Amino acid sequence: MTEIESNTPQSNIAQPDAPTQRRLPVVAIDGPAGAGKSTLAAHLARRFGLLNLESGAMYRALALKAIESDIGFEDEAALSALFATTTIELQPQSEGNRVLLDGHDVTRRVRERDVAEGASQVSVHPQVRQWMVAQQRTLGANGGVVMEGRDIGTKVFPNAEVKIFLDAAPEVRGQRRFLQGGPVPPTVTEESVLMALRERDARDRSRAASPLEPAPDAILLDSTGMTFEQVTARSEEIVRQRLALAGL
Ligand code: C5P
Repeated sequence: MTEIESNTPQSNIAQPDAPTQRRLPVVAIDGPAGAGKSTLAAHLARRFGLLNLESGAMYRALALKAIESDIGFEDEAALSALFATTTIELQPQSEGNRVLLDGHDVTRRVRERDVAEGASQVSVHPQVRQWMVAQQRTLGANGGVVMEGRDIGTKVFPNAEVKIFLDAAPEVRGQRRFLQGGPVPPTVTEESVLMALRERDARDRSRAASPLEPAPDAILLDSTGMTFEQVTARSEEIVRQRLALAGL
């Protein structure tokens, strides 16, 4: 730190601009399951030199902890008691996040269907959301992040410089999820994936605490009928415009 000479009157003297640190932006990407948020977030993070954080992975990790601790997804009090003994870490990689639960790598496990279903159920509880939002705000406190989820632009970072709400027709999202899922047991059909996705959507949209909805200042992007390249090109354009508006 530079010391100010004591005999220099400080008032009325224009000080040269101190070298200030450039403010780093927050890019919020919200939308329903299967809209392509994770792929888009990873792309934008690489393109703009930001960290990519998947908030849904945190809900999934808590659901996994509940499964391992034999706690029902509906038991808000027992879930809240878990917070004191639970640490969830997200390590951004070039594609998605490595997820650590209490120091153990659970990246693959949290993608499985029972955990996805659990995440959708534990996320309705206000106390769970409060705990998650506090941690997510800490992760993005210094900016420089693309965070994707359901309530990033509305609740976690209402002042985010860029907000994109990415949507697509349910049939398209169901098909993407089915094809993404890798080898599946024969009982899992495209119809069953679509049905599970519709249920999760309905739960996300109808819950009392931070329902899934676009922030008033979010740009809506419906990717139905768009190629991935078209989605990324339009999104890059949105990011550039919004960053310029924010003077970044
Ligand atoms: O995005 P992902 O499918 O991994 O999220 C898992 C679940 O976590 C979602 O179905 C949703 O219910 C919940 N979630 C949430 N708020 C977020 C991120 C995810 O409620 N910001």
